[in-house]
Amino acid sequence: MSTVFVVNAGSSSLKYQLVELASGASLASGLIERIGQVRSSAKHKNAAGGEAQEELHIQDHAQAFGWVLRQFDAVGPSLDDADMIGVGHRVVQGGSRFDRATIIDGRVQDQIEALSPLAPLHNPANVVGIRAARAAFANLPHVAVFDTAFHLTLPPAAYTYALDRSVAEEHRVRKYGFHGTSHQFVSRRLAELVGKPLGETNSIVLHLGNGSSACAVRGGESVETSMGMTPLAGLVMGTRTGDIDASVLLHLARNGGYSIDDLDTLLNKRSGLLGMAGSNDMRDVRASAGAGVEAARVALETYTYRIRGVVGQYMAQLGRTDALAFTAGVGENSAETRAESLAGLESFGIVIDADRNAGTGPDGDAKERRISADESAIAVWVVPTNEELEIAQQVAAVVA
Ligand code: ADP
Repeated sequence: MSTVFVVNAGSSSLKYQLVELASGASLASGLIERIGQVRSSAKHKNAAGGEAQEELHIQDHAQAFGWVLRQFDAVGPSLDDADMIGVGHRVVQGGSRFDRATIIDGRVQDQIEALSPLAPLHNPANVVGIRAARAAFANLPHVAVFDTAFHLTLPPAAYTYALDRSVAEEHRVRKYGFHGTSHQFVSRRLAELVGKPLGETNSIVLHLGNGSSACAVRGGESVETSMGMTPLAGLVMGTRTGDIDASVLLHLARNGGYSIDDLDTLLNKRSGLLGMAGSNDMRDVRASAGAGVEAARVALETYTYRIRGVVGQYMAQLGRTDALAFTAGVGENSAETRAESLAGLESFGIVIDADRNAGTGPDGDAKERRISADESAIAVWVVPTNEELEIAQQVAAVVA
């Protein structure tokens, strides 16, 4: 029963999961937060219900791995018996260099670090995690799985910004796209669900979480996606604006006294649902709208209007669309958001069945279910994403 240890390192956090390849099951998972602060919090749990939770000072990611290894000893499962074949690292930005999961050696680690100007919050943290994990699991192959890799099949027309070409080239400015691991996993599963070979299936995946992005997939390859050079672009998100006229930044800098850092915080952390309606959680915003708060109602309309626009755009660009999937926290759980996003698209061949969507149809509230009506030309599904499993499977393919 081979396993892969999956690592997702943030600047002050470490998330991990031990994934069993044959079943796809998570044998153990955990999260360490506030690394480097006085009181860090650390949690570990295993599939048998064993748990450990502690508040303690964890100085850095190396110490965090020390804590994790102790929990595997104390709470289990035993890593000695886990037949680990490798360690998979989620890496946010792979630039135009990494078009697939790649075994990490010193050179690859340097290249990931060199992409930091394109993802200043993420890549340096990913490298810190890689360094600590390579020390903790010195005898295993380590593999980087990039959020951007799936989108390197975008055609130039989709990834090019209409910017002075020399500036774009010098600063590596282009659309990279993110959430690639999720879009790849969900689009592959969606093709299975609609019973068509992947190579002949055209689909649209709507990954609606705290961060959100859409992806058009033609025959298994990403051909368009809504995030851009960074994860700021595209749909309205929990705390990010999504698309916005770039001149708004110039306006705020010239007339509002905003610095570069102020703008970064405003666009990435203070906007989206949070900025418009006071919470980045879809449940709160729906509750406010239900209680008659006008700003929350407008925020929801803006959120779903933008999704509908992207669906229309991708249908035009795909030419023929077979299937559409909703995934991630909002996409998997919010029937209202799904219904509102696709409302009025019946003449485009998208007909939602209200009962199936609400979880009161024949399949009940099965996590994975078809929500379109039988007569809908385009099959619409809820497909739970599983980025850890996708990473584990890519690691297995690379080390094999
Ligand atoms: P991340 O992008 O951090 O991985 P997730 O995909 O887990 O996020 O999505 C988290 C978001 O999903 C929450 O902020 C919330 O808005 C939304 N969400 C989670 N559960 C529900 C639910 N039952 N109904 C509506 N929205 C939900």
